[in-house]
Amino acid sequence: MPASERPRRRDASRPRACDIVIVGGGLVGASLALALAGAGRRVLLIEGVAPDSSEQPSFDERTTALGNASRRIFEGLGVWDDLAREAAPIRVIHVSDAGRFGSARLRAEEQGVEAFGHVIPNRVIGATLWRALQHADGVTVRVPARVTAVEIAADGAALTVADGDGAEEVVTARLLVAADGAQSVVRAAAGIAAAVEDYAQVAITAAVVADRPNDGTAYERFTASGPVAVLPLHGGGYGTVWACTAARAAQVLELSDEAYLAALQERFGWRIGRLLRAGRRASYPLKLSRAAVTVGTRTVLVGNAAQGLHPVAGQGFNLGLRDAALLAEHIVAAGGDPGVPGLLAGYDHARAADRGGVVRFTDSLVRLFASRLPGVSVLRDLGLVLFDLSPPAKRALARVSLGFGGPTPRLARGLTLT
Ligand SMILES: Cc1cc2nc3c(=O)[nH]c(=O)nc-3n(C[C@H](O)[C@H](O)[C@H](O)COP(=O)(O)OP(=O)(O)OC[C@H]3O[C@@H](n4cnc5c(N)ncnc54)[C@H](O)[C@@H]3O)c2cc1C
Repeated sequence: MPASERPRRRDASRPRACDIVIVGGGLVGASLALALAGAGRRVLLIEGVAPDSSEQPSFDERTTALGNASRRIFEGLGVWDDLAREAAPIRVIHVSDAGRFGSARLRAEEQGVEAFGHVIPNRVIGATLWRALQHADGVTVRVPARVTAVEIAADGAALTVADGDGAEEVVTARLLVAADGAQSVVRAAAGIAAAVEDYAQVAITAAVVADRPNDGTAYERFTASGPVAVLPLHGGGYGTVWACTAARAAQVLELSDEAYLAALQERFGWRIGRLLRAGRRASYPLKLSRAAVTVGTRTVLVGNAAQGLHPVAGQGFNLGLRDAALLAEHIVAAGGDPGVPGLLAGYDHARAADRGGVVRFTDSLVRLFASRLPGVSVLRDLGLVLFDLSPPAKRALARVSLGFGGPTPRLARGLTLT
């Protein structure tokens, strides 16, 4: 039966005329919905895949390094205490260039902070956010449900929502938020173009256990074919992200656990001792995607729908969380209609410097360390050594979690939204 002929579900507990509809309840969308709880708006969060499903693309086996500003945002949202139970602090950051002399070490205590940030499994973040959403005032969730069509007009947006059982319904919004990831259907429906650059690298992630438990050091090791990150995990293990060419990734994914651990050990070295066990591997093609603008008629893009980054600097979600925090702040401060052009333009302007800065910083890091041009490797080694000796440079990097410019969201400064 064509979808248009199916009987429509009528459920009074589900608002069909909303102030704000957020499409995508992954890391950023779920955080935004929570930030808008109690703001006196009818908020609807639509997510295609249940947060505890093994198919969930945002809350999967990855681990996320959260900067201190993100920690403060989560404190403001009332979820940090739950997250902290499974968070591993990053007390030292060690950066090195494989097979060369340059390396740098940043210590949290030298920067006057207890930790640079914390590493938390994505599944834990998802479970925590969605648990909190069950009690979020003014927020309704629909999951599993997908947005299949979007129409945008000057006074609002109309979305066709298909539930897991296939029943379709139209909901309206005064503001439509695209939090539906790098392949955003909302972005496409809003007619906003995205520029995509392929890094020709694939990230392979896995949790591993070594014969030495972690001491709170996060390692970033640059190799000719891509960086390898080894992050401390709660419980003593490590989260690993190994970026390499697509052809190499296909081979690595086929290896037995034993052969994989040997290959990773060869790439990363012996700084954490012998690698003993590995969890499930997953792979992610790495691209830089950047929407031409982050706002349109009645529409705003946040998180990966606005910009998808290489994970080398662990900035993608931290940046997206600042999108969510500042958008909620602008909506609450403006009062009234959340989709008016002035509000959206103000938000876009306020986010521009941070967004541009993080994109440039991350992209330059990937390109600098991937370069095989004669002299570049010597220069970057010198750069690492000088950086290691330079307190101002270290201080600047330690402050990265606050954002790269523009206003820091109130939540990230430990304040409430108003
Ligand atoms: C290997 C790797 C490691 C990373 N490590 C870090 C890190 O340490 N620190 C950091 O800050 N960032 C990190 N990132 C980046 C981070 O994962 C992303 O920035 C983050 O996932 C973006 O969240 P999002 O909610 O915007 O998008 P997504 O995570 O893509 O979520 C989008 C959600 O929208 C849903 N959806 C999509 N379409 C529809 C639809 N039509 N209807 C309903 N729902 C829909 C999806 O099911 C999904 O739940 C890493 C990324 C990778 C690949």
